[in-house]
Amino acid sequence: MTAALAVDGLTAGYGGAPVLHDVTVEVAPGALVALVGANGAGKTTLLRATSGLLAPAGGAVRLDGQDLRGVGVEDRARRGLAHVPEGRGVVVELTVDENLHLGGLWAHRGTAARRAAVEDVYALFPSLDRRRAALGHQLSGGERQMLAIGRALVAGPRVLLLDEPSLGLAPQVVAQIMALLRARCDATGLAVLLAEQNVAAALSVADRGVVLDLGRVVVTRPATDLAHDEALRHAYLGF
Ligand code: ATP
Repeated sequence: MTAALAVDGLTAGYGGAPVLHDVTVEVAPGALVALVGANGAGKTTLLRATSGLLAPAGGAVRLDGQDLRGVGVEDRARRGLAHVPEGRGVVVELTVDENLHLGGLWAHRGTAARRAAVEDVYALFPSLDRRRAALGHQLSGGERQMLAIGRALVAGPRVLLLDEPSLGLAPQVVAQIMALLRARCDATGLAVLLAEQNVAAALSVADRGVVLDLGRVVVTRPATDLAHDEALRHAYLGF
């Protein structure tokens, strides 16, 4: 099966200082891959180089087998590669509903199609459904994170790159978000690459875990194996 996302031998850095070295990661349609590793391992850099926010020095990114070299960040998004960076990026002056419509603006030509895509996101996130008219700044941290993910999903991506969605959230909210992501992958074939410091939460829903250490992939294993490998957890994940 062609991977939904294939990152192949990617090398990238900042101002000539290399951060990622020959990184290869694949995500199959419907799969959720957890990208884990210590602070500064290069998780954010990998997501940025994949979505096109950062130009890699070498290697390739393929979406459904199509090479994205030379394709800009907006065109990557149009082709179905969504990126939700850390920090969430919700427009706090707009309502939940307006934020979601904004997410679907370029992806759906007619208002009816966009409305349907927004309703689909409300079905996935009942807590957003209840807060349609609330302004971004009135939301809890968990609601904001859901809105950021929901806004990306309105466009109907094939692949979702998620950076630290658990940051600052209560454990039960984290568990809820993880479960929703898993459900979305299973139901729609969405492929997710999830960068997380909260290793246990990410591995609890992931199919596979990829461990980054100093910008290199050191382990790629089924998520349940990784979660139970104490030596590996001590060596790279600090717990
Ligand atoms: P964290 O979970 O702390 O965000 P990470 O695994 O996502 O860590 P990155 O943020 O990708 O790691 O950082 C990898 C390395 O790149 C670190 O050494 C960091 O200092 C460096 N780095 C990150 N962003 C920049 C930047 N804009 N300019 C220069 N160096 C950077």
